[in-house]
Amino acid sequence: MHTPLCGHAIGAPIEYARFARGKGFDMITFTCHIPMDWDAFGQTGIRMRLDQLDQYRDLIHETAEQMKPEGLEVLCGIEAEVYPDEAHMEPMDKILTGYQWDFVLGSLHAHCRSYIEWLKKHKVKDDKMIADCYFRHLIDGVYSGRYDSMSHPDVIRTYGVVDHFIPEEHEDVIRDFLAAIVEQGICMEVNTSGLNKGAYEVHPDPLILDWASKLGVKLTMGSDSHRPDSIGQHFDWIQPLLRKKGFTELYYFRDRKRHEIDMPDAM
Ligand SMILES: [Zn+2]
Ligand SMILES: [Zn+2]
Repeated sequence: MHTPLCGHAIGAPIEYARFARGKGFDMITFTCHIPMDWDAFGQTGIRMRLDQLDQYRDLIHETAEQMKPEGLEVLCGIEAEVYPDEAHMEPMDKILTGYQWDFVLGSLHAHCRSYIEWLKKHKVKDDKMIADCYFRHLIDGVYSGRYDSMSHPDVIRTYGVVDHFIPEEHEDVIRDFLAAIVEQGICMEVNTSGLNKGAYEVHPDPLILDWASKLGVKLTMGSDSHRPDSIGQHFDWIQPLLRKKGFTELYYFRDRKRHEIDMPDAM
């Protein structure tokens, strides 16, 4: 879940926390977007600035203190970027290694202008090539060792980056991605925001979840909330589906160490 510091979310962290507690959660993790050099990325105003990072951490820690007596643990994570150009990653790496985080997500926001331009520059044109390329970049991300969980793994379907995304057409590269996650001992995120943001389907696609289950991929779960009242959105619906697909556990991270919980019953 996010905070208004990223420029495209609403609601104070304490509002997210209270809503979560009201819904019955006993633990949540904030993962607002990591500050990036967005001039280099071709877009501004959609990430917190580097000089807001301390404020972000203070806000989350204050929220954690406030919510402790209420029975809600609040963890401080960050949603980091996956990007093909390593030169852009240096400032981000300083943030990842220079602070103590509970949890680091790895996201390739394929709809960002800089990635679209990267694709154009490298003559990656049709939908098939773009989606394959996207998953290959995710694989590089997995092996970079930066992230605890790969978030919204098929977000390539949203925001019109490709007209069509049919997982079967990319089965080899997606299976390579899933196998890399297992090999590296990290997790994949099930992100329920896809159900309302254009894909109208959970991230990743249920077929990808089938492959992931067979390969032994461990899951974290997120609602990617950009407003307090979307915390836990669609969890009721997705958890029984995940059980049916053979997932019996979920995972979360504290101090970047993985913890296992039973797949919750519908809330
Ligand atoms: Zn966001
Ligand atoms: Zn994201």
